[in-house]
Amino acid sequence: MSNSIKRPSPCIFCGDRPGTTKEHFYSKWMSRAGLLNHKRADKYVEYGFERSPAIGKQTRPNISYSGDLSTKKFRVVCYKCNGGWMSKLEESCRLSLEALVTGAPVKLNTLSQYDLAGWIAMKVICLEHNRARRFTVTPSFDRRMLADGKIPPYFSIYVGNHSMPHNVKIERDTLTVAVDTETPDPPLADVTKNVSQVRILLGKAFLLVHICRANGFDMEDYMDASLKQHVFDRLRIFPPQQDLVTRPIEPILDRAGYAALEGSFAQMMEVSVHRWVPDSPV
Ligand SMILES: [Zn+2]
Repeated sequence: MSNSIKRPSPCIFCGDRPGTTKEHFYSKWMSRAGLLNHKRADKYVEYGFERSPAIGKQTRPNISYSGDLSTKKFRVVCYKCNGGWMSKLEESCRLSLEALVTGAPVKLNTLSQYDLAGWIAMKVICLEHNRARRFTVTPSFDRRMLADGKIPPYFSIYVGNHSMPHNVKIERDTLTVAVDTETPDPPLADVTKNVSQVRILLGKAFLLVHICRANGFDMEDYMDASLKQHVFDRLRIFPPQQDLVTRPIEPILDRAGYAALEGSFAQMMEVSVHRWVPDSPV
């Protein structure tokens, strides 16, 4: 075989087989049931930031995918994972997902919070590795972790409802941060970024994922106090809350609330007590 023929990368979850099956970001049943109707073609937009004392703050060119986001598929997983534990995980939180997508009332106990958070983490990891450029979760470190039912401890996951006109939208911000020195702590090793925020509209629900692998740095400490009060303290499902949580919960995130959330990552970057290291070349 010629060396020029590109072989598929290994499955991002098990690494045992090539990642050749296509995983929908938005599950097919959601589109089939008409739960994701949207008036205009929404895009997936990814922003990369870098900052250092030498260069100040810079923004990398955005990456955006054209086409209908509700049918977007990522070819990063193998058939066995896709049809096995991934499908079981989705089945385990299907009822919660249906309620969230339609805005119907739902009560989530600790276990259902965990299942739902696992499903969200799975989707976000697929999204991260769709293009191997800016990712915070490395397959070699976390291989099999989700498949074994464990969510990486550096995830924080929040679920609420919104009143935005859109119901299909994904945005992701990534950053490399160093707390005290000029190198990240822990070292980046085989990831390219150590902090990221992913904002997703899923029908009537919004999902917020923080991934923070910078020791001694808590993203939420540097974000707006109103977000802490209305989002971080009230809507968390991972780490799960001991009490039963219900959705929808007031206040429903409106346009202004969503805008505050969108701006929170950039706002966090304005904090000058931390030294931001330059983005690695991509
Ligand atoms: Zn696999």
